[in-house]
Amino acid sequence: MGDRDKDPNGRGRYLQRQDRLRRVLGQASADAILVSHLPNVRYLCGFSGSAGLLVLDADSATFFTDARYTIQAQHEISCAAVRIAKKGLLKAAGELLRGRRSLRRLAYSPAQITVAQKQTLDSAVARKVRWIDDMGSVEKLRAVKDPGEVSTLREAAAIVSKTFERTARILRPGVAELDVAGEIERDFKRQGAEGPSFETIVASGERSAWPHAHPSTKQLGRNELVVLDHGAILRGYCSDMTRTVFTGKAPRKVKSLYQGVLQALEAGKAAAKPGAKSKDVDAAARNTLRRAGLARYFTHSTGHGIGLEIHEAPRIGKGDETVLVEGMVVTVEPGVYIEGLGGIRIEDDIVITARGAEELTTAPRNLIEL
Ligand code: ZN
Ligand code: ZN
Repeated sequence: MGDRDKDPNGRGRYLQRQDRLRRVLGQASADAILVSHLPNVRYLCGFSGSAGLLVLDADSATFFTDARYTIQAQHEISCAAVRIAKKGLLKAAGELLRGRRSLRRLAYSPAQITVAQKQTLDSAVARKVRWIDDMGSVEKLRAVKDPGEVSTLREAAAIVSKTFERTARILRPGVAELDVAGEIERDFKRQGAEGPSFETIVASGERSAWPHAHPSTKQLGRNELVVLDHGAILRGYCSDMTRTVFTGKAPRKVKSLYQGVLQALEAGKAAAKPGAKSKDVDAAARNTLRRAGLARYFTHSTGHGIGLEIHEAPRIGKGDETVLVEGMVVTVEPGVYIEGLGGIRIEDDIVITARGAEELTTAPRNLIEL
């Protein structure tokens, strides 16, 4: 097997990420880090399975998995030593740490490890170590995408954009929300995506006022708002796009709400640039809705990072001080939700560029009246 086959994503990319993490760990005076959150493991060594742990110290990287993944790990991992754990991954990682006495300060993610797992680990290490909070160090690295990641995210966004345009043609009164969701997810796969990046939302009528409604057997009615929030996962990377359509000729009230949300979306995207803070993007969208008298109907934050996870750093919310930098990929998704009438949300994915932001999702944003 050639190197290319073994690591289609490029071995260098993973080594670079590991080195960047080592520098962060050095600043935190940690001797090693135990990486347990699977998207973080995937980011650092390429493993895409469901059981894996990575221990990284100043000069080595060791990956632990179980026997089910022996062959897959050989294919996917070329930048860490692979160990197949017989009695649990944490126990095996703990035993490795036990043997390396110079490792005294160990970073880990308290948000990702249960108390029981921590006890297993402690008893396997069997000596006094200082566990320190990794402070989301891998998540912070992941927030800034490299060009390869941006191009995969662009492809994932193109898939959902295309799917929406095709789906809009089959939307009509009488079709059940679940059927629409099924069509969307089949279309993702036809385009080569692994599947949806989260449970597809198709919410019609009054249900469109629930920001996270699950699709139901309800059929689309006449003269209803329909919110479609959907995303594809491509080679591990997530897209996330929302469009809202109206099944009929939209009354003036709906049109004006829609324009308010659309303007908030455009204002949010225009505020997204290097050096701006997350809260500035949120405020741009929120203030636009405020001027239209709609702020009280906007009940969630303006956006979130996307990447190997559908929700990741940075959060685009009120008061968030994160400074945006080139390479961050985030959503901007203002919405209004009015009980009895319904909801309107429009969401795009954008990448922060050297000067501003580029839209990754491109499906039409004008109000589609069916
Ligand atoms: Zn969404
Ligand atoms: Zn979203």
